[in-house]
Amino acid sequence: MEQTVRTTCAYCGVGCGISATPTGPRSVVIKGDEAHPANGGRLCSKGTHLGETMGLTGRLLHPMIGAKRASWDKALDLVAKRFKETIDRYGADSVAFYVSGQLMTEDYYVANKFMKGFIGSANIDTNSRLCMSSAVAGHNRAFGEDIVPATYGDLEEADLIVLVGSNTAWCHPIVYQRIQAARAVRGTKLVVIDPRRTETCEGADLHLAVKPGTDVALMNGLLAWCDAEGTTDLDWLADHVNAPEGFWEHIRTGHDLWTTAATCDVEPALLKQFFELFAATPRTVTLFSQGINQSIRGTDQVNAIINVHLATGRIGKPGAAPFSITGQPNAMGGREVGGLASTLAAHMDFAPENVARVGRFWAAPTMATKPGLKAVDLFRAIHEGRIKALWIMATNPAVSLPDAGRVREALESIPFLVVSDIMADTDSSTYAHVRLPAAGWGEKDGTVTNSDRTVSRQRPFLALPGEVKPDWWIVKEVARRMGWRNAFAYDRPADIWREHARLTAYQNDGQRVLNLRVQATIGNDAYDAMQPFRWGDRPFADGRFPTPDGKARLVLTKQMDIQAPLKTWPMTLNTGRYRDQWHTMSRTGLSPKLARHREEPLVEIHPADAAALGIIDRDLARVHTAQGNSIFRVSVSGAQRPGEIFTPIHWTDQMSSGGRTGLLPRPLVDPHSGQPGFKSTPASVERV
Ligand code: SF4
Repeated sequence: MEQTVRTTCAYCGVGCGISATPTGPRSVVIKGDEAHPANGGRLCSKGTHLGETMGLTGRLLHPMIGAKRASWDKALDLVAKRFKETIDRYGADSVAFYVSGQLMTEDYYVANKFMKGFIGSANIDTNSRLCMSSAVAGHNRAFGEDIVPATYGDLEEADLIVLVGSNTAWCHPIVYQRIQAARAVRGTKLVVIDPRRTETCEGADLHLAVKPGTDVALMNGLLAWCDAEGTTDLDWLADHVNAPEGFWEHIRTGHDLWTTAATCDVEPALLKQFFELFAATPRTVTLFSQGINQSIRGTDQVNAIINVHLATGRIGKPGAAPFSITGQPNAMGGREVGGLASTLAAHMDFAPENVARVGRFWAAPTMATKPGLKAVDLFRAIHEGRIKALWIMATNPAVSLPDAGRVREALESIPFLVVSDIMADTDSSTYAHVRLPAAGWGEKDGTVTNSDRTVSRQRPFLALPGEVKPDWWIVKEVARRMGWRNAFAYDRPADIWREHARLTAYQNDGQRVLNLRVQATIGNDAYDAMQPFRWGDRPFADGRFPTPDGKARLVLTKQMDIQAPLKTWPMTLNTGRYRDQWHTMSRTGLSPKLARHREEPLVEIHPADAAALGIIDRDLARVHTAQGNSIFRVSVSGAQRPGEIFTPIHWTDQMSSGGRTGLLPRPLVDPHSGQPGFKSTPASVERV
């Protein structure tokens, strides 16, 4: 393996292409792939330093039963036996998988087929639930299907880009670089809507530091402005969009500029500037991310954004679309195979005809007939003893789920826990009865889909170390041991890819079928050589949507009353990422260069709040919420709004006794998507 291998970055949903040239058994030179459409050779700091993360320190290299090394046969036999016994005794819904946007599409497909078609439960959810499930629910409500109607190329064809709830400069750096490059060429205007003044705001024409959780009011106010100014496209609306009864009366009442400015706590003059700019710019992309999705009103916030685009006809055209960008490298591939507990393959839901269609295709003995438990509910069910066996793949819920202390209690109490992971000891695998060593980046072989629907190959350039195996292989071996040998007779990822494409095309007259049929018969060599591609053309370019009458739907959204500060919890806690770290740092934590950006977890607090609490910069402070508390180093920062604090999500018990953000948020979720609200937890701060 000494030749340069074209693969895809391990980290975020930008999905940058990488050229990897191995220089030894575990060393590699990393460069951006100039031919990849997502990045054209650019890489951010995380991608650039991937080569520093190839070592085997901390890797899980052999199957383990308890603290003892075991053979693969013994470990897989035990997993199959315990899952079968549990299902026989308590039923299919007594077991669950919790998977990850780090998996390849092929891994995701096999795990979903196993659980939904053969075990007969839909209790398979993914950490992508924490990332973009509100966008999925919003797309389904508006378009009738989970379709992202934009590409990165639209950013280069827009005259205005609105970033809502997204620190793009840190969290999707190459997208931000593309935006800045487009601005230099085209003069594109940039508006950032974010309660924090982040690095993304530094390059913007306008920053609206809105009060957290007021995005519905803001977008409804914008729509009211467009309606009053005649920017709404009445012909387009009549032909292509349905509005629910009372929609326009609702928008025209209480959404004037001054009321909206007061609700959002921004200067009316700044708000007017934004509204005028939006109304005057047909080529507008509104890009949104976790600041919108990670809210107990996330789906309404997504739909409030989509409403504005539908009503002004800014969709299905170059440079005009609402654009949800995902956090993880393969959240979108997971969506395509039905990786959420609430979906079936090919973006289908659990309507009886869809269940029957997928069941026919798989020749499934026991199809799940209803959605399964979503992440937060799943771990609540474990805590309550309703789930008896759990398999966690490539994720660390003891750190990343809200109310992580309770998640730990759940993992400690479950009768049988399997964790497949690249790392030997994680906060979650501490509780595992069986640990299975999984392939990591550079060893994996499969496909991923990025935020703009580009499918790319992740190719291996390192030998599998120790007894490590790919996730798809581990899952199929358990399925075969449970009696389904023929249905899981895969020898290579290409076998799974072809089946995924065949299922998506099966009894499907959608626009993507021609492309699907090509992929369904692709040869092994052609799969290996696959170039980045999208399944279909620009969605909705013909003005038709995948609803029964072909029309999109406006959704009536109301701003929820913002909770006044409570005496016990006078602050609002917001959480998010650092530029140079990823998730729980199992990979980025290996890079000394990346660690230099932020050496420890900080709580950022406004100077006035710090002064009132007697706290100065670099002090230690304890952040309390109703769920728990943790200590952070203080950063006094005018980038915060008064009354609001910010902490990073990355640190775990394995690396620090403090900085545990996961202990703090409430396990409250959006009613449509089940996505937890990580962005506005009532909190208090005290100097330590
Ligand atoms: Fe990797 Fe995302 Fe950085 Fe691209 S922007 S190099 S995909 S982390």
